[in-house]
Amino acid sequence: MNTSPFLPFARPDITEAEIDAVARAMRSGWVTTGPETKAFEQEFAAYLGGGVQAIAVNSATAGLHLALEAIGVTQGDEVIAPTLTFTATVEVARYLGADAKLVDVDPVTLNIDPAQIEAAITPRTKAILPVHYGGLACDMAAIFDIARRHGLQVVEDAAHALPTTANGALVGQLPSAAAVFSFYANKTMTTGEGGMVVTKDEQLAARMRVMRLHGISRDAFDRFSSKTPAWYYEIVAPGFKYNMTDMAGALGRVQLQRLPAFVQRRQQLAARYLHELKALPLILPADAPPGETHAWHLFVIRLRDDARVTRDEVIQALSDAGIGTSVHYVPLHRQPYWRDRYGLTPEQFPVAEHAYQRMLSVPLFTSMSDEEQTRVIAALKACVR
Ligand SMILES: *Cc1c(COP(=O)(O)O)cnc(C)c1O
Repeated sequence: MNTSPFLPFARPDITEAEIDAVARAMRSGWVTTGPETKAFEQEFAAYLGGGVQAIAVNSATAGLHLALEAIGVTQGDEVIAPTLTFTATVEVARYLGADAKLVDVDPVTLNIDPAQIEAAITPRTKAILPVHYGGLACDMAAIFDIARRHGLQVVEDAAHALPTTANGALVGQLPSAAAVFSFYANKTMTTGEGGMVVTKDEQLAARMRVMRLHGISRDAFDRFSSKTPAWYYEIVAPGFKYNMTDMAGALGRVQLQRLPAFVQRRQQLAARYLHELKALPLILPADAPPGETHAWHLFVIRLRDDARVTRDEVIQALSDAGIGTSVHYVPLHRQPYWRDRYGLTPEQFPVAEHAYQRMLSVPLFTSMSDEEQTRVIAALKACVR
């Protein structure tokens, strides 16, 4: 019988410094988007470098919606995305009346397979939405090459990719139209709920800033601000309500300062899992190529074909040992909405399907102790045969 306390699959790493920062924002009298959010945007842009513009939003989903709207995705367009992702990556295309072309992933990285992207392009294709699965960069050189040859935009779902590098550059600095980070509770840093869209394109940034807050044009406002009273504003589009609160901004600023330490701890935990689990009949997650950074948002293990236990049996054994796990993800081609809308079948996605049947994500979070990780490793060694 297990007597240890339950070890969750993920837990946010919040200290008194974050609590103080949020309390300060609350006491300041300014709780909606204000000085904290503005400072968070500037500090986030400086962290990525390369003169990027950072636009804080209340979720990565909102950021993806803003990015697709800004690049002009509309009714009848198609966007190409991997089937092995969270529904947010592609639901935003449907908000705009566009459709998602889901494609299979690479068997080693579980990232979108560039060859499958190429095969899915039609005259309606507008954009490619790579997802840096688990925090490992997609083959961005191949994706940018396809985008260039076919005149397509690239919007990165970078929800797992803080910080991740591709060919030596941080995700967020790459030549895509935009990259969207998530600060959801279990991501590599959190604001409770929140996200950040990053772009180098001034026009896209301006559009996203307007659409983030009801279509209120700052330009229209600023142009007349010397002559018009403070209450005056102009609406230039039916925008959204996607702005970040200053409590979230204040929390994000502290988390961003701690990010280098977070990355280090995640890398340590991942390295130990990779070392300790290598004798088991598992496919361990691919590490980043030498010199590149893996964000290690997730540690996804897959049972090898010669393993004598099933994925569900491993999840049950870990649960009996008081250890939480998850599955990232039930592929979208299996989700009723996407399956039925596009008539998708498992046979169309052999790699994602094979991986899905055998995969689970084990606990990996910065406040996890060495002893807690020892428990996970011991439980896996006891049940994976
Ligand atoms: C978490 C996540 C999102 C959505 O992020 P929110 O901030 O919760 O909206 C999108 N895509 C992927 C791959 C995610 O993991």
